[in-house]
Formats: sequence, C-alpha cells, structure tokens
Amino acid sequence: MTLRLYCASLQLVLITALVLLFARSGSAQAVPPAFKVIAIAEAGGIHKPFVDAAKVWLRKEAQAYNFTVDYIEDTKPINDAFLAQYQLFIQLNYPPYNWTPTATNAFEQAIEHGTIGWIGFHHATLLGEFDGFTMWPWFSRFMGDIRFTQYIPTFVTGTVLVEDRNHPAMKALPRSFKIEDEEWYTWNRSQRANVHVLASVDENTYTPVTAIKMGDHPVIWTNEHVKARNIYIFMGHHPELFQNPEFTTLFHNSILWAAGR
Ligand SMILES: [Zn+2]
Repeated sequence: MTLRLYCASLQLVLITALVLLFARSGSAQAVPPAFKVIAIAEAGGIHKPFVDAAKVWLRKEAQAYNFTVDYIEDTKPINDAFLAQYQLFIQLNYPPYNWTPTATNAFEQAIEHGTIGWIGFHHATLLGEFDGFTMWPWFSRFMGDIRFTQYIPTFVTGTVLVEDRNHPAMKALPRSFKIEDEEWYTWNRSQRANVHVLASVDENTYTPVTAIKMGDHPVIWTNEHVKARNIYIFMGHHPELFQNPEFTTLFHNSILWAAGR
C-alpha cells in the first residue's frame, strides 16, 4: 500500500466514524420540546373524572405536537421565575380563589405582559365569594367583569353557536355544535362588552328545558385588553367531552394558538 493510498483509506475510516458518531448522538438526543405547559389541576372533587380524562388526552397531544405538560395542584409553586419557564398556563377546573399573594401577582403580571398564554376551563369563572374566600377583582375583569350567579345542577344539552369562525382557536369547527349534559353557568351580566366572544350557547336549544338562563350567553371568549393570548372555555364538567370531536378540536387549536405556535 502506498503512503497516499494508506492516507486516503485512513481518511475514509475517520470520516465514516465521525458520520456514525454524529448520527448516533443525533438519534439519541431527543428533539427539544417546542414549548412547555404548566397545568393547574383541581385535585379530587366532582371534576376529578374530567381532569383525569384531560391528562390522558394531553399526554397524547403533547407527544404528537412535541410539547411537555407539568402539573401542579395548588398555587404554592407559582412565582415569576416559575412561570417564566412556561409558554402556556392551563387552568384545568381550578377556581380563581385561594391563590397565594405571590401567585396572584405573578399570574397577573404574566397575563398583562403576555409572557405566557392561558386556557381556562369551567371552574375558572367561579367568581364570587366561595368557601370563605373573597372574589379576585382582577380575575373578574379578566373574564369580562362578571360574577358567577347560578348553574344548572340537573345538566342540560345545548347547542353552541360559533360566532368568530376566523379565530385560530375556532379553526375547522362547524357553525354550531352540540354539548351534552353541561351545567351552563350563568353570570351577572353578559361579558360581551368587555371581551371578544368566540361562541355562545343558544339557550332555546336546552334539552330538557330549564328556567336557568341569562339571555345573551357567551361560553367561549378571549380578553383582548391583556397582552397574553388567552381563551376561556366554559365546558369542562364531564370526562365525555374528550369523546366530542368539536371539544377536542377547540382544545387542540387553543393550545397551539395560546402557546404562540
Ligand atoms: Zn362542573
């Protein structure tokens, strides 16, 4: 073997080794998540089946769309540095009361300045005096300056009318869709003057009929007076919602939009 041929083959061996090494480290190294989600999930109680179903659905969604979800069950860990690690905050049926003062302040700042996105479900509008706690006025304004008044304890099925089909969170949804057996909270006023309504429930479609109504009744909305991409979705009592393709489409769209993707 001439020296030139020897050098050439040595070079080839080295290149091959480097390529193999690179390929191996590349495949062993997981792709970093596109974004990180923090979810505050109500522990136990009547909404446990919904929260449990949400966790199962979110695990699959996170794998498919390359994000991670961390869970907390109270507000003690929340401060500025904690929230700064995440791009999206999901309030899985956690109420807006009994938050620590540090968590309250950190959350308000993150939403006002848009350093985090937000999706809130169901209990997130339990605005008023509950369990011995006073109302959080900032949160009430965030939700359109409302106070919780009643709910339908017997559950009724209703038709949701999509009002803004061009909003990214409403992508691929039909003009209207049915939500079965919901509690349909009512509030002291329609939030329409203070928020951008994405969908409302047609109370005339309630089955069975009930007297618990509020008239103009928004159920999905976003507050455009804060910098954070935010969406409130009223539905969130029963785990069967995760069998409803309109609900899961809405949740999926909301995640990608609110996380800024
Ligand atoms: Zn409920």
